[in-house]
Amino acid sequence: MSRSDQPVLPANPKAEYEALSNKIDAAIIATLNNGRYILGPEVAAFETEFAAYHEVRECIGTGSGTEALHLALRTAGIGPGDAVITVSHTAVATVAAIELAGATPVLVDIHPRTYNMDPEKLADLLKNWDVRTRFLGNPRPRAVIPVHLYGHPAAMPEIVSIANQYELTIIEDCAQAHGASVKDKLVGTWGDMAAFSFYPTKNLGAIGDAGALITNNAKLSEQARLLREYGWAERYISSLPGMNTRLDEIQAAILRIKLPYLKRWNAARRAIAAQYDAVLTELANNHLLTPHSAEGLYHVYHQYVIRLQDRNRIKQMLAARNIITSIHYPLPVHMQPTYRHRGLTAEATLAVTEQIADEILSLPIYPYLSPADANRVIQALTEIVGQE
Ligand SMILES: *Cc1c(COP(=O)(O)O)cnc(C)c1O
Repeated sequence: MSRSDQPVLPANPKAEYEALSNKIDAAIIATLNNGRYILGPEVAAFETEFAAYHEVRECIGTGSGTEALHLALRTAGIGPGDAVITVSHTAVATVAAIELAGATPVLVDIHPRTYNMDPEKLADLLKNWDVRTRFLGNPRPRAVIPVHLYGHPAAMPEIVSIANQYELTIIEDCAQAHGASVKDKLVGTWGDMAAFSFYPTKNLGAIGDAGALITNNAKLSEQARLLREYGWAERYISSLPGMNTRLDEIQAAILRIKLPYLKRWNAARRAIAAQYDAVLTELANNHLLTPHSAEGLYHVYHQYVIRLQDRNRIKQMLAARNIITSIHYPLPVHMQPTYRHRGLTAEATLAVTEQIADEILSLPIYPYLSPADANRVIQALTEIVGQE
């Protein structure tokens, strides 16, 4: 499969389809023939299986990851006048979901090595809440959304302890971290609720939009199920003002086929990361920094992100060698045109977030990336960076 004249792609969801096409084609046809297209038996079965994977009580399928976050916030009763703390170094979806719920996002800085929420910054913000959020009209701190960015678990033991001290609801953003864990405890099981995205390139991906909320709390799950579909306690009768975020039967049928592969696909991502680490860590000097990993953390490498000076030039030089890389993300959320005048940071700057945005580069990584293609990435980078 490794043709040196073919580009090495940053991600390749089609490869997963090709590996399982017989089963997926059959499941789609079976669903078409079954005639139930929304919230039918495939959704119910996937919800049971995804909950069982996490050893939690409940899973509620949703239309996307953004909607799973929105639904979790609504389920927690969070809305106007409430603040939700998260990071600026994330997919804009995390922040968009907070505003969809009518709440105010308050963004804190990340740790310089893990690129995830810095628990010290979180504690410091909460300690100085009134002063720091005056500009935002002092919304009430209600929840925290740690994001397990790139598949690297956030510092959950520390975040849980701080959140408990301030009675904050914890909603984990697991959109990039299906199957990651901290001390053998899966992400998504540390907080009150967790949101997953099954966007096609995620570690577990559908063939279209899809998402899920998981929780171990029966009360919350009951509330989330109502809110998911117009607040219906029974058909056509709303007991709450709800929304519509349902998981399609076809997507659920496909996710059921793919879920049993999640562990080996994560292992494949980790093998590629190990292959990159083995050579690139040697190159690691002032020019290049490899991803953080540590004992007790099961990193599932949704992205393999290096840091370098002169990132844009090196990205172009890699592209000239047919190695296509990406940047997650080129502009922190608080600096984006629609957010930048809003003072969502509660600090003058988010120094770490702002610095790394110009230095990060996501190398190609996906379960079916061949070792030979990973080697082409390594060779190209070694040549480029080695010359400096
Ligand atoms: C993908 C992603 C989302 C949003 O998921 P969608 O399914 O695209 O709505 C949220 N948060 C993070 C960190 C993501 O990577």
